[in-house]
Amino acid sequence: MAPTDDEGTRGALDMTQATTPADAKPTIRRTGRYTFETKSRTRAGVTHTQDVLHLKCSCEAGEKGLRCWHLVLALQAEQWYQRAEEQYKAHNTARRRQPATMTRPAGMAALQEAFGA
Ligand SMILES: [Zn+2]
Repeated sequence: MAPTDDEGTRGALDMTQATTPADAKPTIRRTGRYTFETKSRTRAGVTHTQDVLHLKCSCEAGEKGLRCWHLVLALQAEQWYQRAEEQYKAHNTARRRQPATMTRPAGMAALQEAFGA
């Protein structure tokens, strides 16, 4: 009934909780234009490198040519970065080229400028 003395000092329960899927958030960071680095979910301190241009990953599955979750994640991240970059650029060009008043949609103006209209 009463908890034994050593129950509070044992770390076994915490260890299993730390590896539950809900707790394991994938950590990914961009290291280059097409390269990403993902931390291993299962092994602490292990990172894998992804090349989204050549669809390669440095993990065991990736070296066999399989599409691992790192690569899936890296591709998603790449898309996200690309979208964010485009939005950032579009926002900046619109601000630079347009005076205070905006009469045309920024996208249309950019298109016309690009074609010299
Ligand atoms: Zn991988």
